[in-house]
Amino acid sequence: MSRAGRVADAFRAVFGRACAGVWSAPGRVNLLGEHTDYNGGSVLPLALPLRTWAAAAPRADGLLRLHSALFPGEPVEVAAAGLAPGAVRGWAAYPAGVAWALRRAGYGTGGADVHVETDVPLGAGLSSSAALEVAVALALTGAVEREADRLVLARLVREAEHAFAGVPCGIMDQAAAACCTTGHVLHLRTRDLALRQVPFDPVAHGLRLLVVDTGVAHALRDGAYAARRAGCEAGARALGVRLLCDLDPGQLDGALGALDEPLRPLVRHVVTEEERVGRAVARLEAGDPRSVGGLLTAGHASLRDDFAVSCAELDLAVAAALRAGALGARMTGGGFGGSAVVLAEEAAAGRVGREVAAAFAAAGHRPPRVLPVEPGDGARRDL
Ligand code: ADP
Ligand code: MG
Repeated sequence: MSRAGRVADAFRAVFGRACAGVWSAPGRVNLLGEHTDYNGGSVLPLALPLRTWAAAAPRADGLLRLHSALFPGEPVEVAAAGLAPGAVRGWAAYPAGVAWALRRAGYGTGGADVHVETDVPLGAGLSSSAALEVAVALALTGAVEREADRLVLARLVREAEHAFAGVPCGIMDQAAAACCTTGHVLHLRTRDLALRQVPFDPVAHGLRLLVVDTGVAHALRDGAYAARRAGCEAGARALGVRLLCDLDPGQLDGALGALDEPLRPLVRHVVTEEERVGRAVARLEAGDPRSVGGLLTAGHASLRDDFAVSCAELDLAVAAALRAGALGARMTGGGFGGSAVVLAEEAAAGRVGREVAAAFAAAGHRPPRVLPVEPGDGARRDL
């Protein structure tokens, strides 16, 4: 039986009736463009083969009943009309927030039974939260075919994550879950939300893309994220631009000279990272994914040395992958743990996985999870 079929069966076991459909949305990994999203810059996420499924059926009584396979037991129950930020705690705040945001935007979603299952590891920097939100948004509204409509949905569920989960995330995760397509990275320009599907099919070029989940939870993340963000805003103010990505790379040297010492590396990372994304897009569109490897490695050095958001495990994963002959590697996501992404020749991919695992064992770290990925589908209806 298909995965969606099993999710439909699980829905029946929980709620004692058939679901109206099964929808799913993927986790994501960002190929390049880190800490650019709140500076008006660009990101390049792709959809993972790991997905979150949501089976749902409407209810006439206005109740929202939410169940996750990860939290067996009675569903969380709340009146759809009474939803407000703070009304629901724990994991159910994510889907409840989605229902709230959709209702506010006039989607008219009332009561529903919802059951979710996921293959996306939680808190690994692969965006299980956006996969959950977008899968539930489709389950509550039905299929959404046009990219523009999907982007609207992505923006709504981001508001849900802000208001209900208290996470001031950028738009990348939700846009990736909603809008990615097979064989592409999504070039998302955050200043105006312009979207472009850029061809990226590593396997067709004899390459492999690996995600290395370090298993390290990003504990330091929240305070450090706020501090980096505040530093970028201070840098932009000092330089008289609205957003750091308004700076042209040619203006960088002059700009750095005008800044206080602590702000310089932050500004240098953001401006050079945006330039790297531009180069990567050009190389991918020219059909040359191999040459993106060096940009990934340069991006890692910038995040480690200038933006200072890496950690020992991420640095080790990148170093071991490069030692094993990878074309490029970098930490991905906000930092301080989570995952790294590695681009390698097909013939070197096995060696990369073994070398990273051996390096983690030698350093006494928990075994990493190495996952080969191909850019997959965004959100869709499965059943
Ligand atoms: P990430 O998005 O990087 O995986 P977050 O901290 O943003 O990490 O989101 C993880 C949270 O999302 C979990 O703690 C949980 O509350 C919620 N979540 C995600 N997927 C599920 C799921 N399938 N079932 C229940 N809760 C989930
Ligand atoms: Mg998240």
